Amino acid sequence: MNIQLAINQGAQILKNKSYLNPYLDSEILMSKVINKDKKYLLLNAQNKIDDKNLNLFQKLINERSKGKPVSYLTNKKLFWNSEFFVTEDTLIPRPDTELIVENILNMTKNKNKLSILDIGIGSGCILLSILSERRDFYGTGIDVSKNCLKIANMNASNLKVHTRLKLYKSNVDKFTLGKYDLIVSNPPYIKKHFLKYLDKGVAKFEPKIALDGGLDGLSEIRKVIKKSSELIKKNGKFILEIGFDQKNKVINLLNKEGFYINSAQKDLADNDRCIICTKI
Ligand code: GLN
Repeated sequence: MNIQLAINQGAQILKNKSYLNPYLDSEILMSKVINKDKKYLLLNAQNKIDDKNLNLFQKLINERSKGKPVSYLTNKKLFWNSEFFVTEDTLIPRPDTELIVENILNMTKNKNKLSILDIGIGSGCILLSILSERRDFYGTGIDVSKNCLKIANMNASNLKVHTRLKLYKSNVDKFTLGKYDLIVSNPPYIKKHFLKYLDKGVAKFEPKIALDGGLDGLSEIRKVIKKSSELIKKNGKFILEIGFDQKNKVINLLNKEGFYINSAQKDLADNDRCIICTKI
C-alpha cells in the first residue's frame, strides 16, 4: 500500500461518517504516523507505507471515525502564534479564545512588567501566548487538575517562557497568593444539562470539569469573579470568557464585586464571548 492510497482510504471512511474535512484529517493523521510534514506527503505520495505504520494509521482513522478530535489524536493544536501540546486532560484551545489574547495584547502595548493570573490555566494557551509576546511580563497559573499543570509547564518550556511562570494546584476559592495587575479566565460555563447537546467531539472527549458550569452555567464564573475581586490590584484589568447568553448576568455579578465594565466582545460567530473590566 502506498501513502496516497492509505490517505484516500482513510478519508473515505471519515467521509462516510460525514465528518467535515475527511481528506485533511486523514492527511494530518498520516503526517503524525510517519512523522513528516504535508510537503513530504505530496512529494512522496507513491512511497510504500510499512505494515506497522499502516496499522497505526488505520487505528487513528478508526478513533477519528468514532468522533475523537484530531487534536487529541495528534496531541497538538495551533493557537495564536504557537503550537500547544494537548491531551484529553485539557480543553482543545478554541479560535474564539484567541479574542482574549488579542484584547490583552492590545491593552498592554505600553505596559511593563505586568503580573498576570490565569484562573484555570488548562493547556496554558491564553497566559503562555501573552508571556511569549510580552517578554517582561510574569505569569501565575492555577488549576485543579495536576495533569493540566504538567501540560501547561511543558508548553511553557516549549515556548521558552517557563522562567516567568509559576503554577499552583488549587481550587479557585482556596487560592490567596499575590496581587495581580491583570487576571484572565476561561472558566467552565456550560449549563450542566446542556453538556450532552454539545458537538459530539466535545461532549464525548473533552474534559467535563473544564466545561461544566453547574445548573445555571454560572457556578464557576461566580467563584472566579469573587476571587478576582480579592486578588486584583486597584485599577487592574479582568478579562473573562463567557457563554453566549451570559453577558447581562455576568455584568451584574461584576458590578456587585466592584468592577467597571470596559467592553463586551463578540466572537467569530457573533456571540458575546468576552468581558473586559477594571477593578475600581
Ligand atoms: N467554548 C467552549 C465550548 O463551546 C466552552 C469552554 C468553557 O466552558 N470554558 O465548548
